[in-house]
Amino acid sequence: MTDTTTHDLIILGGGAAGLTAAIYATRAGIDALTIEQGAFGGQITTTDEVDNYPGIEGVSGAELGTKFQDHAENLGAKFAYDAISSVSFDEKESRFSLVGDEGTYQSKTLVYAAGATPRKAGFEGEDLFRGRGVSYCATCDGMFYTGKHVFIIGGGNSACEEAVFLSRFASDVTMIVRKDHLRAMSSGIRQVKQNEKITVRYLTSITRLEGETLPTSITFRDNVSGEEHVETFDPGSFGIFVSVGHVPQSGLVRDLVELSPDGSIVTDDSMATKTPGLFCAGDVRTKPLRQVITAAADGAIAATSSALFLGELII
Ligand SMILES: Cc1cc2nc3c(=O)[nH]c(=O)nc-3n(C[C@H](O)[C@H](O)[C@H](O)COP(=O)(O)OP(=O)(O)OC[C@H]3O[C@@H](n4cnc5c(N)ncnc54)[C@H](O)[C@@H]3O)c2cc1C
Repeated sequence: MTDTTTHDLIILGGGAAGLTAAIYATRAGIDALTIEQGAFGGQITTTDEVDNYPGIEGVSGAELGTKFQDHAENLGAKFAYDAISSVSFDEKESRFSLVGDEGTYQSKTLVYAAGATPRKAGFEGEDLFRGRGVSYCATCDGMFYTGKHVFIIGGGNSACEEAVFLSRFASDVTMIVRKDHLRAMSSGIRQVKQNEKITVRYLTSITRLEGETLPTSITFRDNVSGEEHVETFDPGSFGIFVSVGHVPQSGLVRDLVELSPDGSIVTDDSMATKTPGLFCAGDVRTKPLRQVITAAADGAIAATSSALFLGELII
């Protein structure tokens, strides 16, 4: 199928950023098409409970994602299901072309909101217990571990920040660090060392997590001797937070944007990139906090910037 329309705007990605961009674009009166390859709502649909989105308490991720999509749809937003495999920009025509499994699409502006996926630690049982003892987001899930033992895998800046954050809730926090040192800024390391609730186990990895419905045992490996030992816990008494980075889904526009060393996309405050008419929003962007609310805020700004670029909005 070839979509012969040249849309004012194509929004690539139907997560919190993309759907908010769809809401703002539709309300600005521009012709916008949002393309999503999987579930509209994005990665938040994979979590059972979201308890930090203002005004909506204790909602499941799937419900929140549906609310975002319904909101956009009720305003008249247009959607397409497709997995986009290439994005190009014709400088002479100032047109973006997107190719997917289902067809090709063209637009005058593009909001790229393809998200980021948390990097996995790679231990056995990680997928099985995801959301039931394994978390990738301290800000999201920290509170659920109040009074419990918490392990954090990682020794970088985020892991240090998350250790300090989680120490407010957990009975104790143990950082599991593969190397013999933390790779973080000195202020972060100082905060970890000064915090009585935090212990650091260097040269250690987690290799296995086992249990029935909830995990009850962790296998640790000594990275020098290679020896393993198992520690057991009551079900529901502990959690493992994986903090080994994110993989921004920036590959499709890699040649059209500036990338930071971790592969996330650099934008200015209006979400603009070095390509005229290309805006980026959400987790795919370089940012200090990857959350629904920050993704939504980016989406709102990106769509508004697109409307301004098209001359459809005067503010
Ligand atoms: C387990 C978990 C729990 C979380 N809990 C919370 C929480 O409680 N509170 C909170 O605020 N945040 C939470 N977060 C973080 C939050 O989900 C993200 O910050 C937010 O969803 C980012 O939105 P986004 O739109 O930038 O990206 P995403 O939600 O990742 O959306 C990007 C979308 O783009 C689509 N896409 C990518 N590439 C293509 C392509 N080539 N073609 C078509 N479509 C494509 C993807 O399928 C995806 O749907 C959690 C994250 C996880 C993983």
